[in-house]
Parts: sequence; structure tokens; C-alpha cells
Amino acid sequence: MLISCPQCAGLNRVSDQRLSDNPQCGHCQSPLLSGVPITLTAQNFSRHANQSEFPIVIDFWADWCGPCQSFAATFSAAASRFSQQYRFGKVDTQAQPQLAAQFGIRSIPSLIIIKQGTIIAQQAGALSGADLQQWLMANS
Ligand SMILES: [Zn+2]
Repeated sequence: MLISCPQCAGLNRVSDQRLSDNPQCGHCQSPLLSGVPITLTAQNFSRHANQSEFPIVIDFWADWCGPCQSFAATFSAAASRFSQQYRFGKVDTQAQPQLAAQFGIRSIPSLIIIKQGTIIAQQAGALSGADLQQWLMANS
């Protein structure tokens, strides 16, 4: 499948068997499955959510939002644990209001899972670590 690089956003073709083999980007040599959430912007969004074939879990958040702050650690832990199933990305709804509007985000934190441009799951409100894990396993 085609996987975008978290560092340079270049597309790489990786076979399913190689996903567990710590694949590297052919353009910049960064690990493709870094296990760390990436920052999504209007500029890189389409590359990671539409062109990349690896499903992406997106956390819509804002600086002033208390529940978002406490959820951030839960989200990062899941990014590390599910690095071979999902890419994790964060949209700062204040810096990227057009992305929030595009997905009709009315409350934060909000989570969506996108696979090749299609929303396959969404969730409004923070989840506990256990609930997030269950939600991710149910949709992978
Ligand atoms: Zn790269």
C-alpha cells in the first residue's frame, strides 16, 4: 500500500508484510511508522488522509480546550501502540479552521478515522485509554 512519510510527506509503496519491519521513507530515510502523532495542515492534509492508503486517526483539538489537553497523552500513547495499524494526526482547529469546517466539527475533542479520503468512523468527546483502544480495534 501507499504510505505517506510523517516527515517529508513523500509517498512510499510498502507491502503488508513489511509493515512490521520498521519501513523507512525512500525519500528522507525517516521511519514511516514513527508512532508519533503528526501535525495536519491544509497543505499536508490531502497527502496523509487521501493519497496515503494507510488509515489515519485524527484528533481535532484546540489550545484553550481543557479536555483536549488531558486527552493528548491518551492519544499519543495510542499512536505508539497502534503504529502498525494507523497513522495518527492532530488538527489544531484554531490554526486550521477550514479543516474543522470541512468535517463539520462542532465540539472538541473530536476524533475521526479516514481511509483513503473516506470517513470510516467518528467520535465526539474524549475517550479513556481503554475505550480509545477498543474503538481503534473495532475499526481496523
Ligand atoms: Zn520522508
